[in-house]
Parts: sequence; C-alpha cells; structure tokens
Amino acid sequence: MGKHTVVLIPGDGIGPEVVHAAQKIVEATGVEIEWQTVEAGTKALEKYGTPLPEALLKSTRRCGVALKGPITTPIGAGFPSVTVALRKRLGLYANLRPVRSFPGVPGRYQDVDLVIIRENTEGLYSGLEQWVDADTTEAVKRVTRGASLRIARFAFDYARRHRRKMVTAVHKANILKLSDGLFLECAREVAADYPEIEYRERIVDALCLNLVLDPGRHDVLLCPNLYGDIVSDLAAGLVGGLGLVPAANIGEGMAIFEAIHGSAPDIAGQGIANPTAMILAGAMMLSYLGEEEAANRIEKAVQEVYIRGERLTPDVGGSATTLEMTDAVLSRI
Ligand code: ATP
Repeated sequence: MGKHTVVLIPGDGIGPEVVHAAQKIVEATGVEIEWQTVEAGTKALEKYGTPLPEALLKSTRRCGVALKGPITTPIGAGFPSVTVALRKRLGLYANLRPVRSFPGVPGRYQDVDLVIIRENTEGLYSGLEQWVDADTTEAVKRVTRGASLRIARFAFDYARRHRRKMVTAVHKANILKLSDGLFLECAREVAADYPEIEYRERIVDALCLNLVLDPGRHDVLLCPNLYGDIVSDLAAGLVGGLGLVPAANIGEGMAIFEAIHGSAPDIAGQGIANPTAMILAGAMMLSYLGEEEAANRIEKAVQEVYIRGERLTPDVGGSATTLEMTDAVLSRI
C-alpha cells in the first residue's frame, strides 16, 4: 500500500506525551505515513486567536484521517469543547469505543468485550444552552430522525461486519418520551433490517447496574450522545481505567482517532500517563487505512506487554514511565 497522509493533533495536558508514543509505535510497523502536525486548544488560541483553527479543519478534510490527543476544555466559562466542535464541523457522526478486558490488569472483570457506539452530533451536546432569567438555565436535547437512523444503521452495520450477536439501544424513554422515544423508534426501524442480530432496549440506569454486575452479557451498545459518554467511562472503569480505551470518530470518508480520556492535567508533564489508549487508537487508525496486518501487530504487542506485566504505568499497577512502557510495546512490534 502507498504512503498515507495523517493529520497529527498532539493536544495538551498528557496529549503530546501519549500521541508521541502512538506515533512511534505506528511508525515501527513500517507503514509509511506522512504526518501533518497541527495545533488546537489553548496553544492554538494563543497563536492564532482561536482554539480550533480553520487550517486544522482543512487539513483533516483533505487527508481524511487524523490522530488526535486530548484537548482541555475549560469548565464553566471559556471556549466550548474543541473536540465536540471538531466532531460537529466535520460531520463525524459515529463514535466507536471498543472496551475489552486486559489480561493482567487488576480490573473487576476478565470477560468484558463491549463496543459502545455513541451518537456524536446532537442530543444534549447540541450546544443549545441559555439563561432564561437570572436564576434559571435551560439546555436543549435535540434528537432528529436523520441522525438517529444514521447512527442506528452504523451500529447494525458494525455488528454485522464484526459478527456481533446483539445490539442494545440505550435510552431513558420512560421520562424523555419524545426525544429518547424518537431515538428508539429509529433503532427499531433499522433493527428490522438485521434479523440475524438480536435487538434489545435498556433504560440507561438499569444498563449501568447491569454493566457493573455482569458486563459479559452485553455486546454492542447503541447510545445517544450523553449516555454514550457516561457509559464509556463506566465501562472503562470495569476494565481498569481510562488509559486503556481508544475511540474512533467516523463520518463520511473521514475519521479522527483518539483516546477516550481527557487531558488529565493532574499528571501532565510527569511522564507517567498510560499510552495504551492512544496506541490502540493508532491501531484502529491503521485498520481504517486498510493496514490490517500492522494494526493486529500493535494490538498483539500491547496484549503481550500486559500479559507479562512488563513495564506498566502506575494507573495499571506498575511503576514505569510512558516512555518505558512505549519501549516495551515497541520491542514486541
Ligand atoms: P474530559 O472531560 O476532558 O474527558 P475528564 O475530566 O474526564 O476529562 P480525564 O482527563 O479523562 O478527565 O482524566 C481523569 C483522570 O483519569 C485523570 O485525572 C487521571 O488521573 C486519569 N487518567 C486519564 N487518562 C489517563 C492516562 N492515559 N494514564 C493515566 N491516568 C489517566
């Protein structure tokens, strides 16, 4: 296969540390990549006066693929989430998060193999929030038929391609009768076209309980935006933490690969961030680029490092640095 061009967004906080690790591992597979590094977030704000420069959108549209580190979002005031804006501006409507147990990681369970598919463009992330009066605020949860059908179709297509047995739509339609009701209506309509895949529905609170008690019973989870966010962190907790789970944001002919974790300012600059999620995001990216063999090699190398309990970072019970763990993976590529 020829050379690929990939946009590299180091992000901030632990972003540059883990993105650099992922870049090294991807390069070690021998797949030829030309990286186009672009800044976003606080650094871009200082330099270009905006946290999401047009150049970044342009490069990503042109290349079609990006590997992205976390970007800090100020809480409360300040600029809106760059990650959310990127997903919306580029129409990356599906967020795909495979959550698997890692051998040797002291997680609560050893049999987790979930895929969370999260609607990425609307719901409570529609950005429609306002002050009604001095003491009252409102946020709009926007659910459209088009986006709901599209994400349901994505989930069932994914399940079919990956021979998954079951898709569970996650909702709170007992309370949000119209918005989550429409989401469910669309999921049911699509499910009818995939008779070989079992279709279920779970209320989000009951699903959380079930996941904690018996995660092995679940397969593909089809989630509206906010529930997908919360359920992913819960699922990450089941397998040993945020540092282990990668994600893909996928749209029409375009995809951004990242870790599900944020910029973790508490450990930034210390060199102890777990690079696993970002490295696995790199493997997902290679698979998207058609470099399946290289992607598998990375996944196997990461697995082996965990099986041997070799040079793991502190969050998963070791005492290694990001660089040491990256080198352990590198030596097995
Ligand atoms: P965001 O809102 O941007 O998603 P967050 O508030 O959920 O961010 P994170 O930055 O994701 O928070 O991280 C939460 C905590 O998890 C961090 O403070 C850190 O201690 C831990 N953590 C996250 N990612 C990693 C990692 N790669 N390695 C080690 N610890 C991590």
